[in-house]
Amino acid sequence: MSKTWEKFKGRLRELLPETIFKVWFSSLKGEILGDKLIIEVPNEFTKNWLEENYKNLIYQVLNEFKLKEIEFLISEKTQAEQLIIPYNPVSIIGRKFSPKYTFEDFIVGKCNEFAFNVCYQIAEERPKGYLVYLYGSFGLGKTHLTQAVGNNLISKGFERVYYLTAQDFLNYMMKYLRSGMLESFREKIRNECEILLLEEIHFLSGKEYTQNELAFLLDSLLDQGKTVIFTSLKLPQELQKMENSLKSRLSSGLLIRLNNPDFATRKKIIRHKAKKHGYELPYEVVEYLARQIRGDVRQLESAVLGLIARSTLLKEPINLSLAKELIDEIGIKEGSNQVEMIIETVCRFLGITREDLFSYSKKKEITLSRQITIYFLRKYLNKSLKDISRLFKREHSTIIYNIKTFENRLNRDMSLKVKVDYLFREISRELPDQSSEVEYNLNESKNSL
Ligand code: ADP
Ligand code: MG
Repeated sequence: MSKTWEKFKGRLRELLPETIFKVWFSSLKGEILGDKLIIEVPNEFTKNWLEENYKNLIYQVLNEFKLKEIEFLISEKTQAEQLIIPYNPVSIIGRKFSPKYTFEDFIVGKCNEFAFNVCYQIAEERPKGYLVYLYGSFGLGKTHLTQAVGNNLISKGFERVYYLTAQDFLNYMMKYLRSGMLESFREKIRNECEILLLEEIHFLSGKEYTQNELAFLLDSLLDQGKTVIFTSLKLPQELQKMENSLKSRLSSGLLIRLNNPDFATRKKIIRHKAKKHGYELPYEVVEYLARQIRGDVRQLESAVLGLIARSTLLKEPINLSLAKELIDEIGIKEGSNQVEMIIETVCRFLGITREDLFSYSKKKEITLSRQITIYFLRKYLNKSLKDISRLFKREHSTIIYNIKTFENRLNRDMSLKVKVDYLFREISRELPDQSSEVEYNLNESKNSL
């Protein structure tokens, strides 16, 4: 009965972060037969993904609904499509791919695994009609992933990939436009391009004509079942001076955010980058760097290179004191990052801005974010009430009240517990002396304040 399925989904929605629920569960259909739940998924990829990542959660809810079994039904077997028309690569539009951007050299962590999986799937299976929109700040791997798709496809002999920046697109378009051949520009892309990789779409801000042309092109590519990957610094709706027609088309795609790498991923990246240069860094150096440098991947890369250069110049082995000198040199203050990290993680997870958090707004989700932040600062960083009141510019008594209210709620509200638990795991990865395996014990938290 689909009513039960709707309830089932409702329960999942309570337990999962909204974005995750939206991406993976909101559109799924399900049916209950006896004590078995059948979930219809669009493809093999989704099935594997759900099984790998959400099995426990699904089983937990299954239990709650007194169901015993689950089966995934794949609604469409996507067959690897055959290319019938031989391609003549004489007049390729676009840039060459840099061979250094491969999937093998891309370190996957929580911050980017969704983006990685989707890009990998596109390169491997070439599913039809995807519109993927990768967004996030500088240096988080948008170009790396996009080019990895291109490299992978080219290496398999598939050459109908167009790789352009938004600026290139504008230039090409202008060139054809000037010689009165806009129609042949359109034709060319429509006929020759199977996968369009278009980077830095935010560049088109204020360039109305190009935006319209792109919106038009996008429609015709997607109509033909072609796949498009865009990269951008921001979400479509956050782009300034963008035509609504283009914005709404972009928004209808699969929007995937690339986040700053978490602690575990930073360690992996540091090790990997050093290894590429023939170095094996000592354990404590990797730990130390990963804890101190919390920015984008480019920063990690340059720290590793800086360290190697330092060691070569000074003819000293790479050790902790060398790493400390480096950190000192790039001007990072030790330990100053943890409060920021907690603030950043809570804001990201609950989808609010830093300004909201420190505002006096009484909106439900903002109040909750504030309470969670205060709770974490107190419990895991042992920040004094005085420090916390100063940070939030609130009275001592208000902070105490917030902590009490929050703890009471935490003990009553199961879905809040699950959220806090999830957040705690995110945060604990970044804190010293707390392995990511630490299980968050809710009973313990009662005694903490
Ligand atoms: P963006 O396009 O998002 O600004 P890039 O893709 O240019 O970022 O990445 C910046 C640098 O960091 C590149 O050298 C890239 O290889 C590297 N990089 C980014 N993410 C990863 C990752 N997950 N693993 C390994 N290297 C990465
Ligand atoms: Mg880039």
